[in-house]
Amino acid sequence: MSKTFALDCVRVAAAAGQVDFGENRVQEALPKCAEGRDLDARWHLIGHLQKNKARKVVGPFAWIHSVDGCELLDRLERAAADEGTRPLLLIQVDLAGEDTKHGAPPAQLLRIFEAAAACRAVEVKGLMLIPPYEDDPERTRPYFRRLREVRDDLVAQGVNRSMLTELSMGMSHDFEVAVAEGATMVRVGTAIFGARPVPAAAR
Ligand SMILES: *Cc1c(COP(=O)(O)O)cnc(C)c1O
Repeated sequence: MSKTFALDCVRVAAAAGQVDFGENRVQEALPKCAEGRDLDARWHLIGHLQKNKARKVVGPFAWIHSVDGCELLDRLERAAADEGTRPLLLIQVDLAGEDTKHGAPPAQLLRIFEAAAACRAVEVKGLMLIPPYEDDPERTRPYFRRLREVRDDLVAQGVNRSMLTELSMGMSHDFEVAVAEGATMVRVGTAIFGARPVPAAAR
C-alpha cells in the first residue's frame, strides 16, 4: 500500500521488484499513476469509490477492490467499455454490519455476481474485506474465515469459480492469519513503507 507515500518511495520499491501498489484515495492516486507511467507498476484502488468517479479510475487502475453494489458495477462496466479498458474488480463485503463501513452485505452478493456475469469490459475476480480493527489478529481470524466461507457458498450457489479466484484480506499486522485462512492478496503498507504520516486532522 503506497498510499500517503510519494512516488519516490514507489520508485524505490519498484526498483526492488515490487509490482503491485495500492492507493485508497482517487484524488491522491491519479497524479501518482500518471507520473509513474514509466514504471512497471500495477495500481490497485482499495478505498471507497464514489459512483461519479468511475470514469476516472477505469484507466489508471488495473484492480479496483472496493466495488460494493450493482450500480457502481454498472458504472464501471460502461466507463471501461467507453474507454476500452479491462479493469479487474473485487466485491467488497461488509461482514460486521457496521453502518460506517462500506461494502455489500452478504445477502446482496448473489445479485451482484449475476450482474457481473453479464459484464464484458470489467471482470470480477473475487472478494475483498476490511474487518473491524483488532490489535490481536486472532480476533480477526473469524472474519477472514467467514469471507472464505462466503466465497465457498457463492460457488455452491452456482457462481462461476473464475469470478471468485481472489480473496483480498489482511494488512501489516494480521496478514499471516489472513493467508492461513485463504487470502490470495494481502494489502501491506506499514510493514513495507514504514509508519504513515499522521494527518493533521487526527493529531
Ligand atoms: C492502508 C490500508 C491497508 C494497509 O494497512 P497497513 O496496516 O499499513 O498494512 C490495507 N487495507 C486497506 C483498505 C487500507 O486502507
